[in-house]
Amino acid sequence: MTSPIEAAVAEAIGPSLLAFYEDLHAHPERSGREERTAARLAAALREAGCRVETGIGGHGLAAVLEDGEGPVILVRADMDALPVREETDLPYASRQAGVDSQGREVPVMHACGHDLHMATLFGLARVVQALRGRWRGRLVLVGQPSEEWVSGAEAMMTDGLYARVGRPDAALALHVAPGHPPGRVLFTEGTASAGGESLDLVIRGVGGHAAHPDETRDPVLLAAQVIVALQAVVSREVDPQAFAVLTVASVHGGAKHNAIPDEVRLGLNIRFFHDAVRERLLAGIERVSTGLARAAGMPEDRLPVLTLLPESARPFSNDPDLVQRVRTAVEAVLGPDRVGMLGPSSGSEDFGAFALADPPVPLCYLRIGAGPGRLHSPCFAPEPRTVLEAGVTALAAAVLDLMSPTR
Ligand SMILES: [Zn+2]
Ligand SMILES: [Zn+2]
Repeated sequence: MTSPIEAAVAEAIGPSLLAFYEDLHAHPERSGREERTAARLAAALREAGCRVETGIGGHGLAAVLEDGEGPVILVRADMDALPVREETDLPYASRQAGVDSQGREVPVMHACGHDLHMATLFGLARVVQALRGRWRGRLVLVGQPSEEWVSGAEAMMTDGLYARVGRPDAALALHVAPGHPPGRVLFTEGTASAGGESLDLVIRGVGGHAAHPDETRDPVLLAAQVIVALQAVVSREVDPQAFAVLTVASVHGGAKHNAIPDEVRLGLNIRFFHDAVRERLLAGIERVSTGLARAAGMPEDRLPVLTLLPESARPFSNDPDLVQRVRTAVEAVLGPDRVGMLGPSSGSEDFGAFALADPPVPLCYLRIGAGPGRLHSPCFAPEPRTVLEAGVTALAAAVLDLMSPTR
């Protein structure tokens, strides 16, 4: 016997929902430029019966379904795409281009599944609207911009999201997870997502002629030493039980074969689950680079300069009671075979910003299997129907349980 949720999901996942997904996939937009995407999502959620407010923290939007007194439950979908050239042969593959922060044209692709997240949100709105009478309270569906820059959630919060829609009693988000069976719903207890931080490390020197290195202080050699020495920060300074990553991801310096440059710029990225590890990594980077510069005889006014970039994410944790409750509700509809556990992600996410209220909002970040493939890959091509069916079912089960009039 099918449950009311399954019946409503079967009704909601029709050709129009898949067409909505394919349209979003074919028209991806870069972080901070989600204008068309936000307009399409807002129109879809209005069609599903929501009251929609747009332009929150950039292109962010909040759609509300309400019925009487009850809890406020927030569900987030992210909206931005990536500067990736799509290499799938899907009939709805992206042929779009966007511009990067320097105004250069770049290809754009939904290579992180945010199009699926938005279609899931639309399906959820349809199901919850169809099941009016079985829930009480206010459901807030959030379309978040700039997740890939880990800045959109904070921008929406700073723009007074909770003053507009109320402080939620719980916030949920779902993210596709390739490498797991399509439609399998995966829960994480405790830390759900790593903190991440990008840093510029400018190795300064004293430039000059390549034939007279003795008259220079060579920042290229120093940069090479710093890159090698940084590898020991994680392996020798961080608790082996703790999670830490330190990657030097870019090196830029010099313009000509016979000239030693004045500086070399390194692009660093760190990942961590705990703030104490973050402090340890930052202190290690500072100490190693400064110490090696002094050892190389750099003048005190030419020591390395470390700058933290704004694109940073705090680690966040799932609320154990909320995870338990949502998992029980999802298992009751999908069955235990389609539900599993997954360890924390070493990727970073800014969903944690939605917890930052007084008192903090309990979070449940769940992932959904998307079959073979990799996130951020030009070949990422999940089979949408299975993922959408399971995603909408899982979120509807969670929302109906959390907003149940009898609990
Ligand atoms: Zn991503
Ligand atoms: Zn993503």
